[in-house]
Amino acid sequence: MTNTTHIAPDALEDLRKQIEGSVFAPGDSGYDKARMTWNLAVQQFPAAVVMATSDADVVAAVRFAGQQGLKVGVQATGHGVIRPADGSLLINTAQMAGVEVDAATQTARFEAGAPWGAVLEKAQAHGLAPLLGSSPSVGAVAYSLGGGLGWLARKYGLSADSVTSFDVVTANGRTLHVSADENTDLFWGMRGGGGGFAIVTSMEIKLYPVAEVFGGNLVYPAALAGEILRRYRDWIATLPLEFSTSVALMNLPPLPMVPEFLRGKSVAMVRGCYCGPVGEGQALLQPWLDWQAPIANLFHPMTFSSVAEVSNDPHDPVPGATTGAWLSELSDTAIDALVRYGVSINGSSPFVLTEVRHVGGAMASVDHNSNAFPHREESLLLDVTGMAPTPEAHAFVVNYAREFKSALEPAISGLYANFTERDEARHAVAHSFPPETLQRLAALKAKYDPDNLFDYSYQLGDGADAS
Ligand SMILES: Cc1cc2nc3c(=O)[nH]c(=O)nc-3n(C[C@H](O)[C@H](O)[C@H](O)COP(=O)(O)OP(=O)(O)OC[C@H]3O[C@@H](n4cnc5c(N)ncnc54)[C@H](O)[C@@H]3O)c2cc1C
Repeated sequence: MTNTTHIAPDALEDLRKQIEGSVFAPGDSGYDKARMTWNLAVQQFPAAVVMATSDADVVAAVRFAGQQGLKVGVQATGHGVIRPADGSLLINTAQMAGVEVDAATQTARFEAGAPWGAVLEKAQAHGLAPLLGSSPSVGAVAYSLGGGLGWLARKYGLSADSVTSFDVVTANGRTLHVSADENTDLFWGMRGGGGGFAIVTSMEIKLYPVAEVFGGNLVYPAALAGEILRRYRDWIATLPLEFSTSVALMNLPPLPMVPEFLRGKSVAMVRGCYCGPVGEGQALLQPWLDWQAPIANLFHPMTFSSVAEVSNDPHDPVPGATTGAWLSELSDTAIDALVRYGVSINGSSPFVLTEVRHVGGAMASVDHNSNAFPHREESLLLDVTGMAPTPEAHAFVVNYAREFKSALEPAISGLYANFTERDEARHAVAHSFPPETLQRLAALKAKYDPDNLFDYSYQLGDGADAS
């Protein structure tokens, strides 16, 4: 176990009295579970973990941290840890997972720990859809703080643009309602600028009338990856906003959880979700089927509640390393790099997934100054994930990804906060904001968190790094 800040027993006792939920400190039997993240490659050793059950718990924890001189980390699921919460008071919101849907106003309001799946389920009961991403296990709040691009992105845009309000706890332990009418500076900055300004306790979003979609994967042999990416480049130029698509190069492990016909194989998949009439989606997909019969055609009409089938991301915790980038183009050189690094030949690539998503569409059509999200003109998004069961494997994946990105460099136009983690998220994301936006975000940080209590988020100012 790494060195961790110690909280005096009487202070800990005092904290326990103030918290309705639970408090775990090193040595407590629940501590190891409470400090766990979804990404098992992250090991973190907070001074204590508060499993919050209410806004009042969050307020009490923040005030306690201030009095004790502790920094505050916050976590819902641990899918996107920016900086391991070593030595912090970690506020875990997983038990704050209430969701309410108002079908009449087509909105959902939920607590900070709600995973997208919980929002999806309640919304789909009314034929409505939230703008979740590829995995329903991801936390809805942090996903939206970073932007949030999923299978309805081209039609309905970023999740951040659909947020109508937040309830937050600030660094001085005050509760604020944040919306287009109240605390508007925070409303601007938290949508796209991340969670370093205040702790969200609940969030309200717009929902959209999407009940059925046509979605799935065409699975081709990896030997066709280059040709598929070249065809994809032309195909996406013809697609309506209803069709959000990607190409995924996958190196599948030889594990029982993988369907037998894919076990241990490398494949290239054309993925998509069409939210218009099914027949139109089938017609738009037809050029692929005319070109070459896939190993498997997994496209089918489905209720939107099943949309996670398209990406089939792991639900249970796994040890991984992820990175990504915006791509300005799918040039032949970029395609060569994607295939060279993404397709494993005799174990040459540690990546499980190299995915290029076609985004753009609705995210470009809102006022570019309406919030802090900086990448509205981008249309191609790269996402790369490798398995990292040991620190050595993690270092290998990170180095390999660095080399891969160098080979792609001419096509890389910036970083997408949600597809970065750890050092890259903490230090590099800021470089992706235009200088005026970064300046505004730094001013917001100075106003709402002048002592950098929430020092486990993106580093947007000059704050010293204690790690
Ligand atoms: C399998 C997988 C699939 C994904 N798919 C997509 C996708 O399709 N599209 C997309 O855009 N992104 C996607 N992501 C990225 C994901 O949106 C981010 O990693 C997101 O930050 C995860 O949120 P979380 O609550 O699940 O994770 P956590 O690790 O719990 O939170 C991430 C960070 O957010 C901050 N935070 C958490 N809760 C709060 C709060 N209440 N108040 C303030 N700050 C807070 C903290 O700094 C925390 O470190 C995916 C990630 C994974 C692992």
